[in-house]
Amino acid sequence: MRAVHHWIDGKALESGSGRSGVVWNPATGQQQATVDFADAAEVDLAVAAAKDAFGSWRSTGLSKRAQIMFSFREIVNGRKAELAAVLTSEHGKVPTDATGEIARGLENIEFACGAAPLLKGGYSEHVSTGVDVYSLRQPLGVVAGITPFNFPAMVPMWMFPIAIMAGNAFILKPSEKDPSTAMLLAEWLAEAGLPAGVFNVVQGDKVAVDAILAHPDIAAVSFVGSTPIARYIYETGTRHGKRVQALGGAKNHMLVMPDADLNMAADAAVSAGYGSAGERCMAIAAVVAVGGVGDALVERIVARIPKIVVGPGTDPTAEMGPLITGEHRDKVVSYIHSARRQGATVVVDGQDYTPPAGNENGFFTGATLVDNVKPGMDVYDNEVFGPVLSVIRVDTYNEALALVNDSPYGNGTAIFTRDGGLARQFQQECTVGMVGINVPIPVPVAYYSFGGWKASLFGDRHMYGPEGIDFFTRTKAVTSRWPDPRESSVNLGFPETR
Ligand code: NAD
Repeated sequence: MRAVHHWIDGKALESGSGRSGVVWNPATGQQQATVDFADAAEVDLAVAAAKDAFGSWRSTGLSKRAQIMFSFREIVNGRKAELAAVLTSEHGKVPTDATGEIARGLENIEFACGAAPLLKGGYSEHVSTGVDVYSLRQPLGVVAGITPFNFPAMVPMWMFPIAIMAGNAFILKPSEKDPSTAMLLAEWLAEAGLPAGVFNVVQGDKVAVDAILAHPDIAAVSFVGSTPIARYIYETGTRHGKRVQALGGAKNHMLVMPDADLNMAADAAVSAGYGSAGERCMAIAAVVAVGGVGDALVERIVARIPKIVVGPGTDPTAEMGPLITGEHRDKVVSYIHSARRQGATVVVDGQDYTPPAGNENGFFTGATLVDNVKPGMDVYDNEVFGPVLSVIRVDTYNEALALVNDSPYGNGTAIFTRDGGLARQFQQECTVGMVGINVPIPVPVAYYSFGGWKASLFGDRHMYGPEGIDFFTRTKAVTSRWPDPRESSVNLGFPETR
């Protein structure tokens, strides 16, 4: 059986920890590989390699760093099909989802290629007689990224291109559920000319994560995953003196106002609710039908569901694939049962879906639509992370806004309306980090930054873009005076500006 190893100091390294995990093919339900689980000593090895590489990498010219990033961009762009096949095999992504993930990842690599101007400091001449002050933006040193299963290519690309371009050495701990993408990216970075040790991959579980969080030579940790783990990462990492940004889970609401184009809203709800089988932190989970649009909207969503092609990602026509594991699929299905028990109306039940021949053991469930959902029901109060769309009916905009703002999460939200004034009011009033106006998945482009509010992000910097540059650098202010050969004297007073 194929084994997925670590990547340390420019080469694959087989673990000696004696611990490993199972890598499934979610579309068939078969085990396809094992993945090494690092112990603390292996994390030490990665940190030592990164620390060694950091010294010369940080003093490698910015244009040289940019050239390597450009070469990496060309490799990823040229081999998208190979990368997409790995995403399909281990995550279960259908073709449009896999290529979409790579395209959004590439945007972040391209941003990093051109990031040199953002790494500049400032300069003030003559702050006092003969004295200048300037600031430098410097890398942090060895930094780490810990990433979730649902975007094994894009989420690491939110982190390492900027971190490396800024002069840091990087250690990636990818999800143990789909670990091979990280290895492919490591090989391609080496091929692009990145010196050994600047990018390392440590495979594993909590043991590896805890070793990263406690390691004295790791300066910062960027995390993306579920809320309980994000909170743990933030609290533990900061307790060990690290800079931490920890992005957590979500429950994204989409408001549909009475004046909205209901066909457009139904298309959006289906796309954003069932795309990637609902395994997106920006998925729409709760459609809030405002002021009597419920019946017309539900009718339109129901009409669209049978047209979704559910199947393995190897089928070029498939639009929705399996869930990541059998255990996760069973949990998602349990929310359909609890919704029915707690008084909601299951209008379409994804359990009626039958996978095609050869995929009977895959981790599939079809698209589910649950109407008349209310706060207090399990399907509403929890992040389901599956293809289960809830409809909540309310009378007014204020009730809809209260649902959004009372949610413990604040990742994304959307409003569908033709009323620009109301949309503007909503963008101002909602306590959410990313807002779509007639756009259901408002993931910002790479030159803005990505991040939620409340329990969707712990820390004070959003991911990638300008805030990513801030996260992976620190500033230093230098006050300088050069002797002016024309004047020099002794002065015992406290330095004052003159
Ligand atoms: P997860 O929290 O289970 O795992 C994320 C990472 O943490 C993995 O690398 C995993 O190995 C590690 N981990 C898991 N349990 C741990 C523990 N007890 N101690 C230390 N480390 C641990 O998340 P997941 O299931 O891989 O991904 C899905 C979750 O990620 C969803 O909640 C989703 O909303 C969230 N997500 C958020 C964003 C965002 O930008 N806010 C983006 C993508 C995914």
